[in-house]
Amino acid sequence: MSDRDAGETRRLRDAVARVLPALELFIRYEGEDRAGRDRDTWRSALDRPLPDHGIGFESLLEELATTVIPYGLRNGAPGFSGWITTSPTTGPAVAAFAAAIAGSQRWWVQPFNLLETVGLRWLAELLGLPSSWQGTFSSGGSTANLIALGAARQHAFERLGIDPARDGLAGAPRWRVYASSEVHHVVTRAAAVLGLGRMSVRTIATDTVGRILTPELRAALDEDRRASIQPIAIVATAGTVNTGAIDPIAELATIAGEREIWLHVDGAYGLFGRLDDRVAPLYEGLEMASSVAVDPHKWLAVPLGCGATFVRDRALMGRAFTLEPAEYLEGAASPGEIGSAFGEFGDLYHDFNIEQSAQSRGVTVWAALAEIGRDGMRARVRRHNSYARQVERRVRADPRLELLAPATLSICCFRYRAPDMSDDGLDRLNAKLAQRLRDETPFVPSTTRVGGRLAIRPCFINPRTTLVEVDGLIDAATRIGDELSVLD
Ligand SMILES: *Cc1c(COP(=O)(O)O)cnc(C)c1O
Repeated sequence: MSDRDAGETRRLRDAVARVLPALELFIRYEGEDRAGRDRDTWRSALDRPLPDHGIGFESLLEELATTVIPYGLRNGAPGFSGWITTSPTTGPAVAAFAAAIAGSQRWWVQPFNLLETVGLRWLAELLGLPSSWQGTFSSGGSTANLIALGAARQHAFERLGIDPARDGLAGAPRWRVYASSEVHHVVTRAAAVLGLGRMSVRTIATDTVGRILTPELRAALDEDRRASIQPIAIVATAGTVNTGAIDPIAELATIAGEREIWLHVDGAYGLFGRLDDRVAPLYEGLEMASSVAVDPHKWLAVPLGCGATFVRDRALMGRAFTLEPAEYLEGAASPGEIGSAFGEFGDLYHDFNIEQSAQSRGVTVWAALAEIGRDGMRARVRRHNSYARQVERRVRADPRLELLAPATLSICCFRYRAPDMSDDGLDRLNAKLAQRLRDETPFVPSTTRVGGRLAIRPCFINPRTTLVEVDGLIDAATRIGDELSVLD
């Protein structure tokens, strides 16, 4: 029997040297994206039965370099504006690589642990959140919102003498969560996971821009109060994924304050918008919220798997998510108890979260902000918001284009308009237009529906995008639209 493990544990230089050329080529985003065309090639190479004997380190690197990396996801390409996630910038990506090797757990007294705390503090400072709030990283907006709503649930039921984290919700009075019809569906799912139920989210209509109508919210709250339904939270969206609309936070804070309801702000995408003075006033009242969620893996462009929650009441977070002491996990024991071989555990986050073991994420946020600072991030956000305004200007100036939602942040929704065509016909034309953009050009927005109409929706958060791609998108959309409307 050999003592040697089959997995290579050193040879980092060989590994990096082998895959580096493929990675460098990849991030130039040159040539055609062959992932679709060559799908059979890489699928049949990769999707094989579990091997009894591994192919070994060299062959593994070879496969990564030739069969995986070249066909990777090109959402970091400069012309890609389809999603609100992008490929990370280099510094944070390398920080994540470093963490995988040197910081493979976020606890204990070591720099990666400290950087969880520093990363959260810097984020709070960047976004203008009070430093007294409890922050915690998690895997993204889905979990960040779930954690915030877990705290809201704790808050609402503790006031009725119920500890929902300990005892569950059996016997609790009926309850509800309030949000606009533009609320992200992960919020609804969070209600399901927390045992509140998807149906407990009461959605409130929005104005044409996509902002919650507060008179309708007040009416819904009044109606539910008369029916003795317990409000759990009002969820404001600060940057909807469809149009980038920002709910009137200050007004919602007033409503929540009057009725002592938890106000959660889902700013997964849009909270960074606060850095642009042109829209900063829309975030007034944020410090009156009870919790916020934000995704560094969106606009801050750190590697995917990084969301953050901040909650005003630190103790509440602990009661909602405590792990309870565990014998083998000495850090969970209260201070002063019999010590353990691990002594200090550093800053611990697993009592504010739904994860125990987790990668170090703070290091990526720290890396992004250490590299470019507040000014660099402010310039990025401002530039991207200006791109959306450039789209808006060009759409307004061209009779063939129709603005479907104005730019609040870095999204601008529009469609191509052919004269005398029905809304159904325009929906079909614009769907085809979007498909052709994706198939034939480097400009790849997504589509959505605004007021029932199919919209072309570029969202600019990609650090590699320049004005060339913004104008290129509009040029290509009008050209293809012209062709399609002649054909039709
Ligand atoms: C992206 C987003 C989410 C979901 O976040 P994930 O990181 O994709 O899980 C939720 N809410 C809003 C407003 C978002 O922009």
